Amino acid sequence: MTTKIRTRFAPSPTGLLHIGNARAALFNFLYARHHGGEFLLRIEDTDRERSTQQAVDVIFEGLKWMGITPDEAPVFQSSRQERHTEVALDLLAKGQAYKCYCTPEELKEMRETAMAEGRPPRYNGMWRDRDPSEAPAGAPYAVRIRAPREGETVITDLVQGEVRVANTELDDMIILRSDGTPTYQHAVVVDDHDMEVTHVIRGDDHLTNTFRQLMIYRAMGWTQPQFAHLPLIHGPDGAKLSKRHGAQSVVEFRDEGYLPEALCNYLLRLGWGHGDAEILSRDEQIRLFDLDGVGRSPSRMDYAKLLHINGVWMREADDDRLTADVLQRLAGREGVQTDEVTRERLRVLMPGLKERARTLAELADSAAFLGRQVPLSFDAKAEKLLSPEARTMLGDLARDLAAADPFTAEEIDRLLRHFAETHGHKLGQVAQPLRAAMTGTTTSPGIDVTLAALGRDEVLARIGAVLRS
Ligand code: GLU
Repeated sequence: MTTKIRTRFAPSPTGLLHIGNARAALFNFLYARHHGGEFLLRIEDTDRERSTQQAVDVIFEGLKWMGITPDEAPVFQSSRQERHTEVALDLLAKGQAYKCYCTPEELKEMRETAMAEGRPPRYNGMWRDRDPSEAPAGAPYAVRIRAPREGETVITDLVQGEVRVANTELDDMIILRSDGTPTYQHAVVVDDHDMEVTHVIRGDDHLTNTFRQLMIYRAMGWTQPQFAHLPLIHGPDGAKLSKRHGAQSVVEFRDEGYLPEALCNYLLRLGWGHGDAEILSRDEQIRLFDLDGVGRSPSRMDYAKLLHINGVWMREADDDRLTADVLQRLAGREGVQTDEVTRERLRVLMPGLKERARTLAELADSAAFLGRQVPLSFDAKAEKLLSPEARTMLGDLARDLAAADPFTAEEIDRLLRHFAETHGHKLGQVAQPLRAAMTGTTTSPGIDVTLAALGRDEVLARIGAVLRS
């Protein structure tokens, strides 16, 4: 029987849910799903000073928003401290770890000497072979792992290929501090082992940790998982992704009006490819994803491409869902009503509106006019269109619109064409001032559907307000 594949996302709740981490979560999720395995979530909250409940909530919210749900209840690393300690003591009992009684001063001196001699500041093994009875009675000690001294450690990384490190590069790292708390490197291994994680997929900034963590697997005689280290996401200029490039966290993208499907689709395509496939549904992602499609070089964030992909997903999105989101975004905007009337107008106009918007924020901006009250305010371009001649024309048109029956897009289109023809205008000469009168701007979906969405009374009221202004 083959073992079930189990992956995990293990964020530290110390800040935002960065898109690099979100992508690691997505890859872990897709890998597990693709192979019929399980995806787990572990909150690495052992750093009590830096971990916050708010950051935990952001992780839960962000993952939920992206549709990345763990198959088991999340594990909080901090709740497993006893178990981490138990394993450390076990390693001690096995002779795979030892007590180190070095004082902070001694460690400082060790570092300084190493630096002065041009060596990396590693622990020099002072207590590795020393008899613990030499320690002053009752002195505090840390527990250190006995690192291999010879040979090399090799991992066959599922993304990076074979990576080797000479064991002389590894030092006897602390697994239990002198205050009795387990270290992060140790906790990760114990948790991954106990959670039966078979594949550790994470950012390649953890590659050096992997070599250190492997010492613990070996010392405990545990089966080590497979590793896949993902290249990081850089800014468009190749530098480390930072604020100046644009949004970086999942919540920022959500607030800027990106759809979760689009963000996931983009993050997947960033650094993973399957032929020319660009727009992929979650089902297709699960069907096609595997680690062999992940590239080795850092990806560059391309905000324009994300925007494009978002536009594609916007057009695919359900109208009621978009309507609900837009209403939320409009709520509280000055002069914009978000009542049932606006909802109904939005629902009717949504097919037209969503064609033109690349984000939910743009969609909300373009839809705000539906919830405004007469008299509207006009931008400069709209103002210009509402010339005295245009106003006269609108007055005539209002009489025809008042009699339109039924007040549907089809009938309105027919009426406008007929009106333009009989008055010797081009259709645009009628539609443009009319659009200005309806929206206060010069852009909207087709004028026929826009009018139908507003309804006859409102259309006449908006024309009337222009004529009076
Ligand atoms: N907690 C680590 C982080 O947020 C991840 C550790 C891991 O994936 O092993 O960077």
